[in-house]
Amino acid sequence: MEFALNEEQKALTALAKDFCKREVSPEFLRELLEREPKDRMPWDLIKKMHDLGLRTLTVPEEYGGGGADLLTQVLVSETLGQYGGPVGAVLTPMWRLCGSLAAVGNKEQQDEIFNRVKSDYTFFMHEIITEPDHGHDPLLPHNEPGSGLKTFAHRDGDEYVINGEKCFCGNTSADLFWVHLRTDKNKPLSQSMSLLLVPRDAPGFSVTRINEFIVPKVRLNGDLLFDNVRVPARNLVGEEGKGGDIFQGRLAFSLPGLGVQLGKTQEIYEVTKDYAKTRIQGGKPIFEHPTVGTKIVDMLTHIEQARLLVYKTAWEYDQAVKSGKKLVSPLGFNLCNAVMHELGILVAGHAAEVWGGRATLKELPIEGYIRSVYDHHHFLGTATFNRIKAMSMI
Ligand SMILES: Cc1cc2nc3c(=O)[nH]c(=O)nc-3n(C[C@H](O)[C@H](O)[C@H](O)COP(=O)(O)OP(=O)(O)OC[C@H]3O[C@@H](n4cnc5c(N)ncnc54)[C@H](O)[C@@H]3O)c2cc1C
Repeated sequence: MEFALNEEQKALTALAKDFCKREVSPEFLRELLEREPKDRMPWDLIKKMHDLGLRTLTVPEEYGGGGADLLTQVLVSETLGQYGGPVGAVLTPMWRLCGSLAAVGNKEQQDEIFNRVKSDYTFFMHEIITEPDHGHDPLLPHNEPGSGLKTFAHRDGDEYVINGEKCFCGNTSADLFWVHLRTDKNKPLSQSMSLLLVPRDAPGFSVTRINEFIVPKVRLNGDLLFDNVRVPARNLVGEEGKGGDIFQGRLAFSLPGLGVQLGKTQEIYEVTKDYAKTRIQGGKPIFEHPTVGTKIVDMLTHIEQARLLVYKTAWEYDQAVKSGKKLVSPLGFNLCNAVMHELGILVAGHAAEVWGGRATLKELPIEGYIRSVYDHHHFLGTATFNRIKAMSMI
């Protein structure tokens, strides 16, 4: 395995870092998060990232995008996570879906959607699987026949008719939703899930609730209702009943979401190390007290371990794609996700200890870091859940 970054990776990470340092100042972030939730999408930044090619990083080159492989995406997302506040979390779901479209969409879907992504920087897609009664169930999947997801689509001529509810959708203002649902009510979920593309202006589609979290979101997160929503049958991605395979086989496309977290933990480590080297107690910087200094080293050790696992998993995925595979076992992603959830808690916990009473001061960054790692703890399943899932694959 080659550990050195190639020229393209170096250039893209430098571009992302330079952009964040220039555009995402603490003052800008403060002002952004004070806005009404519906006004928080930083459209001017998104336009600039679009013009720089960051928004379209995973659109294939033949459609005018960056065509970046997964390792490159992880590297860029890590940079955005460390320096870009919420920017990485805005871009990475789009990267995942553009990469997915390239892997499993048909030519007609690719032509239509990639051209829109390229020509309209305000065009966003979002993926939704979670339902009020089924959170981890479809991720496992819980395969008891007939259970695991309720949202259902039946075929009516050249259309599908969708009924059901989804919750926790991370971008309710998206233009196009990738909706995971059932197309057979009785079979096990792994044989009856399908994936349909639903435009937000489809009659019968509505947003029924907006959530507020301990970390303010720049995108509106909320619940969706599908009340006899009709979409053309050509909006089916892949084959009917194969949606479970598609979901699991491209879980690795969510690695950039973990890259953002990796960058965030690096940021926590850096500010905590700097603080420990300047805060004097017992007559010397607290860093020099072994109980504190080893905590800082512990943070670094765990970050480096996690980074290697995430990079290796992305690299393995890229090798599989180069050898012609479209879908890849989710095991690597599940291991990374378990490790990353625990890394966040460990790093934030150590930071809270090193910063003492200042850890929870509103005007300092640590309390925000603590909230952010818990805010991310559910991402594609808890750490324990990701281990349970891995059990079935080893
Ligand atoms: C801020 C935020 C953004 C989100 N964005 C999206 C989004 O964009 N799209 C989307 O689809 N979803 C999204 N979600 C939903 C998120 O993916 C779910 O919260 C997550 O999958 C967990 O589901 P749940 O909360 O219903 O937990 P539950 O499934 O109720 O789990 C509760 C607990 O039970 C455990 N558990 C569950 N099943 C099992 C089992 N079979 N065996 C052992 N233990 C089990 C879990 O590990 C957990 O500890 C978002 C959630 C949040 C908070």
